[in-house]
Amino acid sequence: AKTHHRGSALRYDPAMSHDTRQRTQLLEQLHHALADGELYLAYQPQLALDGRRLVGAEALLRWRHPQGLAVGPDQFIPLAEQSGLIEAIGSWVIQRACRDWAWLQAQGCPLPRVAINLSPIQLRRPALVDEVADALQQHGMPAQALELEITETVGLPDHLQTLPVLQALRKLGLSIVIDDFGTGYSNLQRLQELPIDGLKIDRSFIQRMLQSRSCERIVETIVQLADHLQLRVTAEGIEDEAVLARLQTMGCHEGQGWAIARPMPAADLHAWCAEHITR
Ligand code: C2E
Ligand code: CA
Ligand code: CA
Ligand code: CA
Repeated sequence: AKTHHRGSALRYDPAMSHDTRQRTQLLEQLHHALADGELYLAYQPQLALDGRRLVGAEALLRWRHPQGLAVGPDQFIPLAEQSGLIEAIGSWVIQRACRDWAWLQAQGCPLPRVAINLSPIQLRRPALVDEVADALQQHGMPAQALELEITETVGLPDHLQTLPVLQALRKLGLSIVIDDFGTGYSNLQRLQELPIDGLKIDRSFIQRMLQSRSCERIVETIVQLADHLQLRVTAEGIEDEAVLARLQTMGCHEGQGWAIARPMPAADLHAWCAEHITR
């Protein structure tokens, strides 16, 4: 594959700091991971809080490291973004999410929606639109079953470049939500201009909302803002039932978190659906 750079420019340089060397090594391993099938997607169920119906699942990237190292996406995604490897990884995620959706469908577990995370870097490439359209078509997946999560900072410096890409993506019929909402730079004017369907409240607010009055107010404010803008609002990081109940009272539409389920491989999601979803 073109992503395979086994032993390329990553030579030992005694001038490199220990840290840099470790990152270089991890990056090289990540190239192999992609080529050798060590990456997979874990799915976290998302429920409509009112009625607790399954509305979808977020695909989260996982690395089955051969030496058993626990390296999470918070560690390796930034590395991939700095090195350019994110393009290949991002394409893989799109392909795999559609394939997993089709597999679940064939197993009798129709997922209404799969959400994938996009790096801002991916949105700079207009070719992304065809890539997504092709993946959907190849797996017979309706665009409405795909959701893209982008971060709030997306398009700040890149606005002019990413906006047409976002518009073209949305024209395919998929939905777009802003991830980690509340943590970044919020330009409400810009928010109205973006072709988006929803907001995801950052989990740092959700996790503290019952302990901190100010976090609770932020959550309430975002729920009201979404209401005004007619956007769907999702809470992530719901760790206990009390938080879930409070969010439901506030009128937050959807949620995900350990109180509902942890992210799990597609095969386990299939079992989880069979157990939790009564149709
Ligand atoms: P994120 O998109 O904000 O994902 C939510 C994170 O919260 C996930 O961490 C998830 O496992 C975790 N989480 C879910 N429920 C709970 C809960 O109740 N409590 C707590 N404490 N955590 C919860 P994860 O899987 O480690 O992912 C970290 C970040 O890595 C993601 O943050 C996302 O920004 C990035 N990421 C993951 N997969 C991909 C991907 O395929 N592409 C890109 N570009 N980024 C990804
Ligand atoms: Ca996300
Ligand atoms: Ca998030
Ligand atoms: Ca995040």
